[in-house]
Amino acid sequence: MARYTGAVCKLCRREGMKLFLKGERCYKDKCGFEKKPYAPGQHGQARKKLSDYGTQMREKQKVKRLYGVLEKQFRRYFDKATRMQGITGENLLQLLERRLDNIVYRAGFAGSRKEARQMVGHGHFLVDGKPVNIPSFLVKAGSVVSVCEKSRENTRIKECVDTAEGRGVSEWITLDKGAFKASVLRMPARDDVGYEIQEHLIVELYSK
Ligand code: SF4
Repeated sequence: MARYTGAVCKLCRREGMKLFLKGERCYKDKCGFEKKPYAPGQHGQARKKLSDYGTQMREKQKVKRLYGVLEKQFRRYFDKATRMQGITGENLLQLLERRLDNIVYRAGFAGSRKEARQMVGHGHFLVDGKPVNIPSFLVKAGSVVSVCEKSRENTRIKECVDTAEGRGVSEWITLDKGAFKASVLRMPARDDVGYEIQEHLIVELYSK
């Protein structure tokens, strides 16, 4: 399973926004982007005017990095989004939001998507009562994601659940802390994504 293993705070600095890739640290003043809110590298502070292509490319990279998805898989999501009814850009974001690792993060079982991905891979979660260890598994509306019985004593999961409210649980998911269960009430709408994303730029980039 390929994944990015480089310095993550540099990704936020490159994209010019907080991508919340490091869990608790992202909410503290230790955040790399708070300390250096400009692009990494020798010329990071120089003002650069991006071409149209550059702007579209940056938007695509930003979304990929936010959800921890690499190019090939991201392209597959885009192709799937074009075949769905509705607006392609919104479909793309909805598919990314429906990933099991994202739901685990949004529900508050993990401090970041990266951590959620690792927890899912380690088999800590059930979807509708069945064990699922695939982070890209697409969760449907009405499904229930729960922590499996033996993992309810996991200190890290307990800690994350206890602090979930501070990070804010998404409106389309309800968390039952006591039962270690999160219910997906509906499919996420565009407004539920909550990040500054101009998805139409990604559609323009891939439609060339
Ligand atoms: Fe990004 Fe989090 Fe690092 Fe801040 S601490 S730069 S939000 S990954």
